[in-house]
Amino acid sequence: MTFVPANQGIEKLKPYQPGKPVSELERELGITNIVKLASNENPLGCSDQVKKAVAAELAEIGRYPDGGGFILKDQIQAQFGFGHQQITLGNGSNDLLEIFARAFVSEKDSVVYSQHAFAVYGLVTQAINAEALEVPAKGFAHDLDAMAAAVQANTKLIFIANPNNPTGTWFEEAEFDAFMQKVPAHVIVVLDEAYVEYYPENFNSLKFLAQYPNLIVSRTLSKCYGLAALRVGFALASVEVTDFLNRIRQPFNVNHLAMVAAVAALKDEAFIEKSRAVNKAGMAQLQAGLEQLGLSYVPSRANFILVDIQADPAQTFNDLLKQGVIVRPVGIASHLRVSIGTEAENAKFLAALAEVLALEVQA
Ligand code: PMP
Repeated sequence: MTFVPANQGIEKLKPYQPGKPVSELERELGITNIVKLASNENPLGCSDQVKKAVAAELAEIGRYPDGGGFILKDQIQAQFGFGHQQITLGNGSNDLLEIFARAFVSEKDSVVYSQHAFAVYGLVTQAINAEALEVPAKGFAHDLDAMAAAVQANTKLIFIANPNNPTGTWFEEAEFDAFMQKVPAHVIVVLDEAYVEYYPENFNSLKFLAQYPNLIVSRTLSKCYGLAALRVGFALASVEVTDFLNRIRQPFNVNHLAMVAAVAALKDEAFIEKSRAVNKAGMAQLQAGLEQLGLSYVPSRANFILVDIQADPAQTFNDLLKQGVIVRPVGIASHLRVSIGTEAENAKFLAALAEVLALEVQA
C-alpha cells in the first residue's frame, strides 16, 4: 500500500481515550453488576420528561433536523437571556471545542491551556498543528496569572475550565475578572463550564459576556442534565464571535431527538436540583470514605473527585476492573479520577478500593 501522509499535526496526534464502556468490560470479564464511575455521567440517568419528549418525536427520525436549532435556541434564550445570534449549538461540547479552535487558530498560532486540564484542548490544538503553550498548574489548579503571562504575539485562544476536569479545582469571579483584564482583547478566551450546574452559587460567568466580547462560555447537557449519549452542548458569545463559529458548524450537528431532549432537560429544574443533591451527598460519602481509608483527595466542585491512591494508577485501575468497578486513570502520578455515583455505587467503589489497596477502615 502506498504511504499516504496525514496532515502534520494529525500524524503526531494520540486520540482521546474515553472511559471504558460497561458493555466492553462485560464482554472481557464475563461479569455483570458493573459500576461505571469513569466518565462523569449523571448516575440518575436523565429526566423522565426527557424520555417522554423523545418518545413523542420518534416518528420524525426520517427528516433532517432544523439546522438552525430554533426550539433549543429559544429555550436557551428564555433561560439564560441571550438571543439566537449569541448561541452556537454543538454535538456535545467537544464538538464546540473543536469549532472554537478551527474558527480562530491557524497553524503557527499558539493556544494557551493549563497542565492537568481537559485533554481535548491539547488534541484540537494538535490537530491544527498549532503551538501548544501548556502552563504549569498551581497545585492541581489553573494558575490564571501565569496563563495570562504566557500569552505570546501569536496566541489566538486560551482554554480554561471552571471547574476543571480531571482535577475538580475551581477559581472565583474576582480572579477570573483580573485574568480577563490582562488578556489582550484579540485573544479568544474559552471558559468551559461543563460542570457548572453542580455548584452554581460559586460563579456567574454570564455577566462577563457583555463586558468581554472575546469571551466564549461553553456548556454541556452531558453531565448534570443527563444527556451524555445524545451529544448536546451550547456556547454563548458575542454576536461577532458567534457568527464565525456558525460559519464552520456543520448544519445538522445536533440531531432532532437531541434538541427535543435538551429542551425538556433544560425545563426540568426539579431533576437538576435532585441531581445536584445526589452529587453533594455522594461527594460527602466518598470524601468521608476516603478519609477513613487514610487517602487524600483534591477538593472538587464537580461530579468527580481526584483521589491520591498512593499506588500505581494503571495497576489499581486494572485491579478495580476485576472487582467490576470502572474508574479513570488521567495521567497524574498516583491518582485516579472517580465520578460521583449513587450511594450504592459509591459504597461499592470504596469497598473495592479498600480491597485492591489492602487498606483497612481507620477508626
Ligand atoms: N469539557 C470538559 C471540561 C469535560 O470534562 C467534558 C467531558 N468529559 C467536555 C468538555 C465534553 O463533554 P461533552 O462533549 O459530552 O459535552
